[in-house]
Amino acid sequence: MKEVLSKKIIITGAVQGVGFRPFVYKIAQQFNLLGEVYNNSAGVVIVTQCTQTQLDNLLLSLNNDAPKLSRIIDISIVENYQDDKVYKDFSISKSRKGKASAVVLPDACICNDCIDDITDKNNRRYGYAFTNCTNCGPRFSIIKQIPYDRKSTSMSVFPMCKQCEKEYQNPIDRRFHAQPNACADCGPQLQLTDALGKDVVTKNIVEKTASLLKQGKIVAIKGIGGFHLACLASIESAVVALRERKHRKHKPFG
Ligand SMILES: [Zn+2]
Ligand SMILES: [Zn+2]
Repeated sequence: MKEVLSKKIIITGAVQGVGFRPFVYKIAQQFNLLGEVYNNSAGVVIVTQCTQTQLDNLLLSLNNDAPKLSRIIDISIVENYQDDKVYKDFSISKSRKGKASAVVLPDACICNDCIDDITDKNNRRYGYAFTNCTNCGPRFSIIKQIPYDRKSTSMSVFPMCKQCEKEYQNPIDRRFHAQPNACADCGPQLQLTDALGKDVVTKNIVEKTASLLKQGKIVAIKGIGGFHLACLASIESAVVALRERKHRKHKPFG
């Protein structure tokens, strides 16, 4: 019988909020590993009881196939890790505390799969402005503390609807453990107000905003990281008004 090793593998770097635990979970399924993976304040920890071949396969995959947005700084292995637990499967378990050193990633622009979602009339996220997944969306702007879990982000006030929760819990879903996961039913909503803060009544906020810009209005678009002031560059009166308000007579807008 092959010797069963007990290993604790600690991965540090930008490994939280990038789908790293789901990635490890998938490798574990592929190579029939037993154990668990979790986030702690240092990064991602894998505890596994496995053969040498399984361990080699795991390490090879960690080095070669890690999620696009992740950046591994170090993989350290605790040899002969003493673990009283007997694992019957492999699971993603609750985050634990530890010495804080995990790297938090910047926000990532929308990925092609999410663009497909919001432009497909039959998709439940059609037109939903805050669509994201493990491969894209906000991170740095919403995080309050590490480890990076939904309850540590500004998304904690938006409980997921049943469908979003299902995606979040499904290891083969692109939104598995995607912390800002949301849809029009459960997530943040767009709001359009006038200069006095009064709601502008409209059926489609994006279209209404576009028409306001075309009329030469200046719109302050509040994003996850601050305000973006917008006007149509081809309408001189709008550009002049924006220059006056910003006290920027000549300096180009950045
Ligand atoms: Zn995405
Ligand atoms: Zn939802």
